Amino acid sequence: MDVTVNRVLPASPYQSLADYVAAGGGAGLTAALAVAPDVVIGELEASGLRGRGGAGFPTGVKWRTVASYASPLASTTVVVNAAEGEPGTFKDRALIDANPYAVLEGALIAAHAVGATTIVVATKARFTAQVARLRAAVTELREAGLVEGIELRLVEGPAEYLFGEETALLEVIDGRAPFPRIAPPFRRGVDEVPVTESDPIGASGLSAPVQMAETDAGSDAPPTLVDNVETMANVPAIIARGADWFRSLGTPSSPGTLVCTVTGAVRRPGVGEVPMGTSLRDVIDTIGGGLVPDRSLRAVLVGVSSAVITPDKLDTALTYEAMAAIGSGLGSGGYVVVGDDASPVGIAAGISRFLAVESCGQCTPCKQDGGEIATLLDDLAKGTGQGDHLTRIDNRLATVADGARCSLGRQHHTVVTSVIAAFRSDFEARQGATAEPVDVLLMAELVALDDGGAHLDESFAGKQPDWTYDAEDSGKTPVERLTDHRADEPVIGTA
Ligand code: SF4
Repeated sequence: MDVTVNRVLPASPYQSLADYVAAGGGAGLTAALAVAPDVVIGELEASGLRGRGGAGFPTGVKWRTVASYASPLASTTVVVNAAEGEPGTFKDRALIDANPYAVLEGALIAAHAVGATTIVVATKARFTAQVARLRAAVTELREAGLVEGIELRLVEGPAEYLFGEETALLEVIDGRAPFPRIAPPFRRGVDEVPVTESDPIGASGLSAPVQMAETDAGSDAPPTLVDNVETMANVPAIIARGADWFRSLGTPSSPGTLVCTVTGAVRRPGVGEVPMGTSLRDVIDTIGGGLVPDRSLRAVLVGVSSAVITPDKLDTALTYEAMAAIGSGLGSGGYVVVGDDASPVGIAAGISRFLAVESCGQCTPCKQDGGEIATLLDDLAKGTGQGDHLTRIDNRLATVADGARCSLGRQHHTVVTSVIAAFRSDFEARQGATAEPVDVLLMAELVALDDGGAHLDESFAGKQPDWTYDAEDSGKTPVERLTDHRADEPVIGTA
């Protein structure tokens, strides 16, 4: 049974803005501009749309919060987070490939709702196909007169995983390295975005606000609204067709659809859209074509963001509430299917290596304890682990998230702990004995997903914890190495 639907991901890509409009596109923006911003936000709140980037925060609540922090002097900015990098996830690029117009229309509606005059779409420079698609779509929208009064620009950033973290995204937009901030975007937004095209920052004196945004017009500093590609793509139809229509699929707490990526040990890796509440089993069967022949399932990885899902949980519904009930999460809808030929130790070592390398080092436990966990797991995978390795891993897992500024440290704790808990005897069996080496699972960003299958960023195998691709790691953390880095210098993400 095919469980896929086509609400935000069309069955075939729109070739032009005219195609999109002929299919009903643009009606959301027209409807939004005809009513007050508060009405738009109210409809979004009623819809129950939750952010599709991974956190699942209610979108309408976020928009109302950002609107309440508006500055009387400087305009709010809307940022589309198109810096997808979760291993096993390709859905935002699939959406941009098939329908960039809905993403941009959603951002234009957001600008009206929160009083923004600038929209920034932040994506990775190496997503060359998506950059070209977005540029062409922006040109079409401009020529159609749909962007008047709005400065709409693209920022092409580095390859680093943390670029997709929303506060690190703002750092990149401001010209710095992708190191997460403490203050959320509604308190500290972008610094260097021109207020208007004719009044660039510097001339107006409004650049780099040192104040934090406040409610009740208490600050000159403007907030920024950041939403993920899929979240933005859902907005136009909600405004055009109403909250009740949106809620006609999904569950009361998880309304709407989810665009899923299924890769790994499946017959047909791919991306598809399903109603929220579809079981993980049906998603793997429908989008991925089921497991490859002669394999049984070891586990399903929710990228590197949520606890591993074991075969006995395969009938869990893909909703925020059901996934939380089994101790996992929806993540960004990317599911890596792992067959029984993969060693649990190799799985944990691959996840740990990814997170240890991508850690920026602003929080010492995240980088140091994370690095030690990765090394100890690598020893177990090689068959050189000593008798106390598992105890040392447990100890470091207990502290790796201490004082973590962003979610990466907590991901390291949660995901690796879950793999060890599910398969502890496999880890115990490899301590202190001369075990045969097992393969470490490559966890890395997807660089392509097409008829030829899923292609991982193989270069990640050579990435060092200092974020270079040198033969030897320098021993410096990325934050020690790149604090004064400017994004226009080709220092990072150059593999
Ligand atoms: Fe960097 Fe880790 Fe701290 Fe996040 S938790 S800011 S990745 S050191």
